[in-house]
Amino acid sequence: MESVGAHRIFSRSVKSRQLKYTTYYGDGDSKGFLSVQNIYGINSVCKLECIGHIQKRVELRLRKLKSKTRGLSGKVKLTDAFIDKLQNYYGIAIRSNTGNLKNMQQSVISALFHCASNKNKSMHGQCPIGKESWCFYQQGKLWQMGKPSVKNTLACQIIF
Ligand SMILES: [Zn+2]
Repeated sequence: MESVGAHRIFSRSVKSRQLKYTTYYGDGDSKGFLSVQNIYGINSVCKLECIGHIQKRVELRLRKLKSKTRGLSGKVKLTDAFIDKLQNYYGIAIRSNTGNLKNMQQSVISALFHCASNKNKSMHGQCPIGKESWCFYQQGKLWQMGKPSVKNTLACQIIF
């Protein structure tokens, strides 16, 4: 939304609708938000961003970093597939922790370590634990810690 249009819409809201907008949805460097941020008083309007746009921004910055930095691209380095995977986990981390910044930061870090793990180097220590976890490793670990698999359950029922 252009800044002139945003300012026009927000400024006429009180007069024509007897309401004040409290939030503005915009992207990172939105000039429209700057034009309405203090329209009803100091910081009277807060800005919200679309998670999809934030996800896309991460992808673009990683691709830009990859193209500008020597030695980052390669088979076992920052591949396009890895960037896509990281972008998806980043989105999951944000969506599953809306309203809780500390958990969101922790989830983003754990998603990075999760994506960087492989069969030779496991880094799932920060991944969420439990059957609802998005981490296959932690889910598998839960099953190994005493909860029998479906096959074992059936076998136990047959034996006893
Ligand atoms: Zn993990």
